[in-house]
Amino acid sequence: MPDTTPALAAPDREGLWLKGDWHMHSRHSTDSSNNPIGKIIGFAERVGFDYLVVTDHDIHVWGDVAHHTWADPDYRSDKLLLFYGAELTAARGHINIMATAPYDHQAVFDARDARDWDLLALKRRLGVHFSANHPSTKNHYGYSFDLADSVEIWNSCVWSKNVPGLRIWDDMLLSGRMLGARGGSDSHHGLPDRPELTTPQSVEASANYVGTPTTWVFARERTAAAALEALERGRASVSANPYNPRVELWADADGDGVMELMMGDNALATGKPVTFEVRLVGGYRGMRYKVKVVKNRDAFASFEIEGDSLRFSDTPEAGGRSYYRVEIEGPQTPYPEVPYSMAQSGNMVALSNPIYFGYDESF
Ligand SMILES: [Zn+2]
Ligand SMILES: [Zn+2]
Repeated sequence: MPDTTPALAAPDREGLWLKGDWHMHSRHSTDSSNNPIGKIIGFAERVGFDYLVVTDHDIHVWGDVAHHTWADPDYRSDKLLLFYGAELTAARGHINIMATAPYDHQAVFDARDARDWDLLALKRRLGVHFSANHPSTKNHYGYSFDLADSVEIWNSCVWSKNVPGLRIWDDMLLSGRMLGARGGSDSHHGLPDRPELTTPQSVEASANYVGTPTTWVFARERTAAAALEALERGRASVSANPYNPRVELWADADGDGVMELMMGDNALATGKPVTFEVRLVGGYRGMRYKVKVVKNRDAFASFEIEGDSLRFSDTPEAGGRSYYRVEIEGPQTPYPEVPYSMAQSGNMVALSNPIYFGYDESF
């Protein structure tokens, strides 16, 4: 069994990498099975995750998650950073609402059919994070992306169904939005406790559970607030499972040899060449992976990577907007605790958030 990918600090700035899952359901969602809160948290602690949020469907409790998921005596952990959240389940689709402290979710639920600008005002008043869920599949996020603080570009272990959502994210990035991307297992069902109790739902749990996929966030400190801030800033990458390599994208825009830009950062486009560095951390060593670079929605380059890092360079257009992100394809590192997830993820191993040039951060 591979070692858990270490939470290494980046060499060039203060912070640490935290891994977790931003989207899942417990038995408080009536479409889940065999998945009480205590079971989820026990599993996440054993595997070594750093943070978790259980985002039950609010419609199942008429908006009253405060007296269901959040009030569950098992919704606590000495090891995990836990968030207060719910999946707003509305006619215009699903939004993950996330916060570091209890908030008035009933107010969000009651406003679920309101105009987007009214929801934006409510979001700001409550100080919560809105994350656009599964933007291309059933019950897709159908609100304005101006409302979204992040977007779920990798929903569940089944990579192939996410490809149209990735295109939507690229469209949003090209439109000038700096929109942080994350994964979410959206798992509903618990792993079988004993083989004789196996049901179709528990077979599903053997493919899709906590961490399929895993989102890594680079937080300035080990707090829930810092993790959520990192997600919003796009200081994040997603791996098919917690044992796969974590991908990091860095850049040196001023030519001093120091990689001063990381994912989520935005620099002036000066017309000078920029050196980018792709790093793979953890996972199997000695494997060959393919690095696909996406620039401004289009395929820009692809490389084979051997070892831990590679560099490439390009000149972002002076005075224009450009973004660069990377996808890693190759063999999956086994995730023995969720053994059937590998086959579902295909060869998609990990993907990064972009580094931006010339974006207007006030937009
Ligand atoms: Zn959903
Ligand atoms: Zn869900």
